[in-house]
Amino acid sequence: MVGDRILPQLLNRFGLARGVSILMYHSVVDADLPFRNWCVLSAETFRAHVEFLKCYADVIPLSAVGKRLAQPSKARPAVVITFDDGYRNNFDVAFPILKDAGLPATVFLTTGLIGTKEMLWDSRLYLAIASARNPSIRWDGVNYTLTGAQEKAHCFTALKAWLKPFAQDQFEEKLGQIIGQLDTDRDGYNGLSRSFEMLWPEQVTEMVDSGLIEFGGHTHSHSILERLDQAERRHEIETSVREVARLTCRPCRSFAYPNGKREDYTTDCLDVLRDCGVEVAVTTVEQPATGSSDLLELGRYPVGVGTGLTRLRLKVFQLEQFLRR
Ligand SMILES: [Zn+2]
Repeated sequence: MVGDRILPQLLNRFGLARGVSILMYHSVVDADLPFRNWCVLSAETFRAHVEFLKCYADVIPLSAVGKRLAQPSKARPAVVITFDDGYRNNFDVAFPILKDAGLPATVFLTTGLIGTKEMLWDSRLYLAIASARNPSIRWDGVNYTLTGAQEKAHCFTALKAWLKPFAQDQFEEKLGQIIGQLDTDRDGYNGLSRSFEMLWPEQVTEMVDSGLIEFGGHTHSHSILERLDQAERRHEIETSVREVARLTCRPCRSFAYPNGKREDYTTDCLDVLRDCGVEVAVTTVEQPATGSSDLLELGRYPVGVGTGLTRLRLKVFQLEQFLRR
């Protein structure tokens, strides 16, 4: 479309996009999911994003951000593609699309889950709701019907938000109770689980060998760092960084804070990251990386199911926060 081209061309001409836009993806799947999950994009949508980025931006590796910020170019906006958690669909679906386009990306690994059959808690909740035999559940005084895709999506979003604040020890218990109430159909659960499983070590190796994909740490157990004591925080970061180095056979220089808001990590995490040799760390604070940013607290733009090309353009050209002001 002509309109797709005009805005990028104008913005490029006047050099309006400053700094680097770091995009945060999670999952890309080529299967139809039973209901909407913000973190899971279709292959078709991701391919459209990649084609747009290839046309209108300099997609650079995360490891090149420091250099780009020191030597900014006004010709085209700079973008970094990142994926959080380490889902197997990053290899199965996103990686071939990136390879076709020749674009780099960074995947942040929850290292304790790599090469295991375990899944992150929100994947388990999604699968349990998707394959629930009960037509409704009542939780914390609220009734949730599960008869259609919209109702299931609403239940998933609400229960995910309800569970998130709990400390780890209470969390598994609550999640187990919810899953128990849903009365999961095991065959349905297993049939859908492929879209939510985590990477295997040999897939990490193949992605590293392509020269396009870098890997960073994302803690070992996806703990929200602020909720841990200092020794636990150090352990989570150090283990994750060490495991990424082992899996990739190269030093781990990047990290993403789980959940990633300013209140989700503490300043001593930055000292631990420096001790581990990490040079770039990313948050989920929605702002571009600029010359004045701390490289261990770079903002990112979340990209999900609702991020069409129009919204992606706003993120790439850093207009979204300008419009919010
Ligand atoms: Zn994560």
